[in-house]
Amino acid sequence: MSETKHVNFFALEKACKEKGCPFCNLINERIYRYIDGMLFEHVSDIPFRRAYRAAGGFCDRHGKILLHYRDGLAVAILGQNILSDYIEAFKKKKAPKFKACCPACIEQEKIEKDFSSFLSENHKHKETQEQLTAYFTASDGLCVPHYAKLLSLFNPPTWLKEFQETLFSSLNERALRFIDYSAWGNQDKFESLSREDQIVWQELARVLRGSVE
Ligand SMILES: [Zn+2]
Ligand SMILES: [Zn+2]
Repeated sequence: MSETKHVNFFALEKACKEKGCPFCNLINERIYRYIDGMLFEHVSDIPFRRAYRAAGGFCDRHGKILLHYRDGLAVAILGQNILSDYIEAFKKKKAPKFKACCPACIEQEKIEKDFSSFLSENHKHKETQEQLTAYFTASDGLCVPHYAKLLSLFNPPTWLKEFQETLFSSLNERALRFIDYSAWGNQDKFESLSREDQIVWQELARVLRGSVE
């Protein structure tokens, strides 16, 4: 294993032990660290400032992190740049057009691609592959958006394809049963469902959306 793969191996293992999609868990942790690093240490970093300004700031989702950020000065410096661009455009009765993509979204794409590649790879070191398969198949598996993303980029190994498809089919069956038992007259059947199955709609919504914050 190369140095970076080593890092990925352990990062993924940790994310697999948490509840929910391992990629979503990784992203939540790394994006926060990315934004924290950018704001706290690199607010004077010219390429970052330029990218931030060209994007009109972070997107709605990532911009939320700024509301409770620990360093008000960094948020003010970055925000003032953007506000002045709006003011200039407003004078011309225009809405400014920001052509660049949110820098945190770009970073997220990189993380997704990196781990999709790592998970799809056939690791030559037998023990590494066995351990990876073991910890991944003990996790909650990828959410629908992350598995779809992985498929759009790489060819998944059989073990991963089977694991994910089994998870989705089982959820699908539980959702169908929930719908069926929710019908009028099926009260008794509904009562017989486990607590988890009675709220399977929440699990379905989570798996369809993912849990990226
Ligand atoms: Zn996910
Ligand atoms: Zn974003």
